[in-house]
Amino acid sequence: ARPSVAWIGLGIMGSPMSENLVKAGYHVTGFTLEKDKLDRLAEAGGTAAGSIAEAVRDADVVITMVPASPQVEAVAYGPDGILENARPGTLLIDMSSITPRTSVDLARAAGDKGIRVLDAPVSGGEAGAIEAVLSIMVGGDRADFDEAAPVFEALGRTVVLCGPHGSGQTVKAANQLIVAVNIQACAEAVVFLEKSGVDLRAALDVLNGGLAASTVLTRKKDNFLDRDFEPGFRIDLHHKDMGIVTDAARAVGAALPVGAVVAQLVASLRAQGDGGLDHSALLRAVERLSGE
Ligand code: NAD
Repeated sequence: ARPSVAWIGLGIMGSPMSENLVKAGYHVTGFTLEKDKLDRLAEAGGTAAGSIAEAVRDADVVITMVPASPQVEAVAYGPDGILENARPGTLLIDMSSITPRTSVDLARAAGDKGIRVLDAPVSGGEAGAIEAVLSIMVGGDRADFDEAAPVFEALGRTVVLCGPHGSGQTVKAANQLIVAVNIQACAEAVVFLEKSGVDLRAALDVLNGGLAASTVLTRKKDNFLDRDFEPGFRIDLHHKDMGIVTDAARAVGAALPVGAVVAQLVASLRAQGDGGLDHSALLRAVERLSGE
């Protein structure tokens, strides 16, 4: 029989990902803060739980997909958290994007309770979650990775063990650096092209056939063309990730000169009240700098 799964955090990513596990034949019991998301899981064939304790009590695998380190700590620790209420032997897979340090600490604290942990953040966005083609970057022990492989296969396409606890988060931090810089480059090109009076759709099509092609340019093209900044991936979350990569890079003495500038632009969007918009809204920051 397939292991029974508890899923904590049914947001933009967690909802479609947990539904993919249901489709793959897993029994999924979910808990999240929004009632409508719990109802959605139940309609998809999962079970809605009233608390974390209730969700994890009989689970073989617990998956967390919450916004950031403080929320991972909130769901993991304390009398109502995962570590107190899951059975020894449970495999806890944290798929949130958080600081590598938090993942390392969690693995140690869980180990004291006989609970094994993998950090397994993802890339591919909401579309990748829905289509189950996520890239999953994993940190932890090889045996636990092998045990989790069928679960990962139901959620993603590229699944790689990157090293010990925290390594998945380190790779995800690099991913977020690349994506932010790439969006910023595309946003600068879009503003430049529009001010130059070139047909933007035609320009983006031909750019995507050459060396400038990117997943960002493909996936965010319509966001740029339509000024549609419905998330997607929120600026608030990318702000969090730029903080993670900035801190992690400083700790090892790696310079991020361009990343630092893009981090400031992401922060400026947030300060101007645009934190809830998709990260393609970096276009707005460039427009403002260009006098629009
Ligand atoms: P989201 O805000 O849409 O969802 C977060 C969910 O966590 C919410 O449903 C919320 O109820 C739940 N939650 C928060 N605190 C909780 C608590 N104490 N107990 C139970 N549930 C709690 O966020 P998202 O966009 O799904 O992102 C989740 C994670 O995945 C983040 O770390 C993000 O950086 C990462 N990520 C997001 C994307 C994307 O495109 N959205 C892509 C890759 C990675």
